[in-house]
Amino acid sequence: MVKLGIFDRLSVRLTAAFLLAAILGVALVAVLAYRSTSSEFSAFIQHMEAMERMMGHGMMRGMMGGQTFAQAEREFLDNLGRTLWIAGLSGAALAMFLGYLFTRQIVAPLSKVSHAARRVAQGDLGQRVEIHGSGELAELGESFNLMAATLSRDQELRQNMVADIAHELRTPLSILQGNVEAMLDGVMEANAENLTLLHQEIVLLARLIEDLRTLSLAEAGQLRFQPQATDLKEVSRQVIDGFQAQMAAKKVNLRLEAPDDLPQAWVDPERIAQVMRNLLSNALRYTPESGDITVRLTPGSDGITVSVTDTGAGIAPKDLPYIFDRFYRVDRSRTRSTGGSGLGLAIVKQLVEAQGGRVWAESTPGKGSTFAFHVPYSPK
Ligand code: ADP
Repeated sequence: MVKLGIFDRLSVRLTAAFLLAAILGVALVAVLAYRSTSSEFSAFIQHMEAMERMMGHGMMRGMMGGQTFAQAEREFLDNLGRTLWIAGLSGAALAMFLGYLFTRQIVAPLSKVSHAARRVAQGDLGQRVEIHGSGELAELGESFNLMAATLSRDQELRQNMVADIAHELRTPLSILQGNVEAMLDGVMEANAENLTLLHQEIVLLARLIEDLRTLSLAEAGQLRFQPQATDLKEVSRQVIDGFQAQMAAKKVNLRLEAPDDLPQAWVDPERIAQVMRNLLSNALRYTPESGDITVRLTPGSDGITVSVTDTGAGIAPKDLPYIFDRFYRVDRSRTRSTGGSGLGLAIVKQLVEAQGGRVWAESTPGKGSTFAFHVPYSPK
């Protein structure tokens, strides 16, 4: 904490400023009043002396009761001086009092914010300040509260993510550990069939780690993109080709619908292929045998919408808002058995949004789902 000297304090500085302004104001009035009254007085005396000369000596002396004009001037100026001193001192006292009152109103909320900021720095992210009214101080309070809320939400997200990752890594690792130990103890045979199962767990683990890496890089804005004019129909065809064997095995019917004159989109073709692979692999995973999957490319006014529609089980409305969150799965056990990491859609969202696009999902439980994204024609 910074050690403040007495003159570093805002309250002392503001009160001193008030005091100085009052003293300078009164001094200025005093000098001006003194100068103007003394010159007025001299003019008046000269005028009276001229009258005296004109009207005869004895008469004016009688009017002044024997006093000289010079004496009268001195007395008047002394009186004026005294009054100005009294006015000056009371003005200064009033300035100090008002300065103290105003300063308190400014400094008290500032101290509140500074105290709360120190508590936040010490890790107490629940700190909030209450500043009433409107104006800059209330705005400062609001900004502080917003900052504290964001920090606390980020911390919660980070903690949840670490817990989620630990949980996700533990499952395949404990399966591997259990099985390898069983083989070492001779309870399980180390034959090709059992080793294939272990190999599948290792592949799953490697995929999870790779997905985590992609997601964390994308969230940190550190993933490299090489956007260029891209033919999305060509990208879709290549991605679909890669799924031919799986589709044939599941007897799934896949259609690609796109107009012949589809304009090019401004995206990184590799990253968009990754997005489409994730959507297609989900569609394939959640669509029963002999189902249909349709990939549709629709040109719009400012970009192209790509949608992947399946005739799978669909997603309940209560799950739909969370579907793009990391590690969110509608049915944990079923997804694991089909090889999902729970990160596929979170990666889709990050990759599309980083390229100036947006993603969404629609679904009718029992009928199927549509996952779609929109990407621009030109750089944003
Ligand atoms: P996962 O690797 O588990 O599939 P995703 O992030 O890709 O993770 O998907 C999250 C969840 O969304 C899935 O666990 C699944 O419950 C649901 N989901 C994704 N795609 C579909 C789909 N086409 N049909 C039904 N449910 C889906």
